[in-house]
Amino acid sequence: MSTSQDDFRRYAHQFVDWMADYMENIETLPVKSQVGPKEIYRQIPAVLPTEGEAMEVIFEDFKNIIMPGVTHWQSPKFFAYFQANTSSPSILAEMLTATLGVQGMKWDTSPASTELEQRVMEWLRDAMGLPGAWSGVIQDTASTATLAALITAREMRSDHEVNRVGMAGSSRYRVYCSTEAHSSVEKGVKIAGLGKENLVKIPTDDQLALSVEALEEEIKKDLQRGYVPLCVVAALGTTGTLAMDSVEEIGKITSKYNLWLHIDAAYAGSAMLLPEYQHLMKGIERADSFVFNPHKWLFTNFDCSAYFVRDREALINTFAILPEYLRTSSDGLVANHCDWGIPLGRRFRSLKLWFVLRHYGLEGLQKKLRLHLELAQWLEEQIVSSPTFELVVPRSMNLVCFYYRLGPEASLEDQNAFNQRLLHELNSSGVLYLTHTKVNDIYVLRMSIGNTHVMLHHVQDAWRQIVEKADALLP
Ligand SMILES: *Cc1c(COP(=O)(O)O)cnc(C)c1O
Repeated sequence: MSTSQDDFRRYAHQFVDWMADYMENIETLPVKSQVGPKEIYRQIPAVLPTEGEAMEVIFEDFKNIIMPGVTHWQSPKFFAYFQANTSSPSILAEMLTATLGVQGMKWDTSPASTELEQRVMEWLRDAMGLPGAWSGVIQDTASTATLAALITAREMRSDHEVNRVGMAGSSRYRVYCSTEAHSSVEKGVKIAGLGKENLVKIPTDDQLALSVEALEEEIKKDLQRGYVPLCVVAALGTTGTLAMDSVEEIGKITSKYNLWLHIDAAYAGSAMLLPEYQHLMKGIERADSFVFNPHKWLFTNFDCSAYFVRDREALINTFAILPEYLRTSSDGLVANHCDWGIPLGRRFRSLKLWFVLRHYGLEGLQKKLRLHLELAQWLEEQIVSSPTFELVVPRSMNLVCFYYRLGPEASLEDQNAFNQRLLHELNSSGVLYLTHTKVNDIYVLRMSIGNTHVMLHHVQDAWRQIVEKADALLP
């Protein structure tokens, strides 16, 4: 059934009203969806409809069937994982992107997509203190960017031998990251054909950052064994606790032993827009690649991962392919972003980023980031002065990791079980959403404060809920 333009206009207006109402009322909804397994699945017919259905009917089902199974990631009471933020300018731009529906794989397939992407990546590069000669490109996720870094490192090191003849007969390439690094590193190592056993997980120091001494020892050992140290993936903000690996110290090692240095700043990278965090970028000129996700803490809809490389040619020589049907007269004159990563097809993602960056401006973004940092500091102060709750590590940026401490007679298992129950009770109440991690075998609640619209009273409410629930749970 075709929808006429009149119908489109009518529904589009109706949907926009729904969208605005949703955003206005989001705080009244249970943050974490409260449905059970298969509850949504069972409500969807087993066979696809033969005849087209009316939009009214589809929209009603969206509201009645789908919405109860939605976790409200945009709620200011969402403190789980890391935020995957949106914002009004981003959503508005996504509407335009969806309408244009262009493929930005090559310059020719939509010049604006390529050229706007180049500009906004330059904006971010310069505002974040990345070297001016670096190039940026949008990837779908940090996982993909890290995979691209590993494959590029592999090709540079093997002189493009692996792309040509495969891995058989090639050296054992070794990749290093800390035990706290994101799982995407291991996934990338597997997909890049390097082999999981060649991923060396380096122990961390008491701040949970990669131990540089241990890294150098492992590299030396590998060299003695005849292996080829290939790449270090350093985390600027680990997922568990936002621990910061030292770019400067690790860079000295990767330079000394000629390894690729990839920086995974997926979440915390946004804070590089703040001069007070620029010290973390010290030594960045020794790195080879850097990724952070505007789709996390920079108010831009998923997916939008900003990937920066020192050597653009190395990236392109790794991924470029030019079959006849993709040849255009502008090849060689312009950037063809399909050659800058894995997928051929690419959404027009720079549009939403452009809208966000212009809407807030650098100062507006800094103000929001600083507010989140202050809110996290407020929470940290409550925990430090609480007789029962404790931080497991000092707060890093806007992530606070803490637990309820049972009396000295309680075993670690009891304490972990208590905190696990506390988390479950909080999340099933629907009034907030937190997730957990383990630090040195201690089960801890992780509270990430970075929602686009979070304010002090949301954090105060959350803290009150946490304290009250814990009291209620005590034996
Ligand atoms: C979230 C996160 C990732 C993965 O991000 P995706 O864009 O979902 O692939 C990688 N590394 C770190 C440190 C993260 O926090």
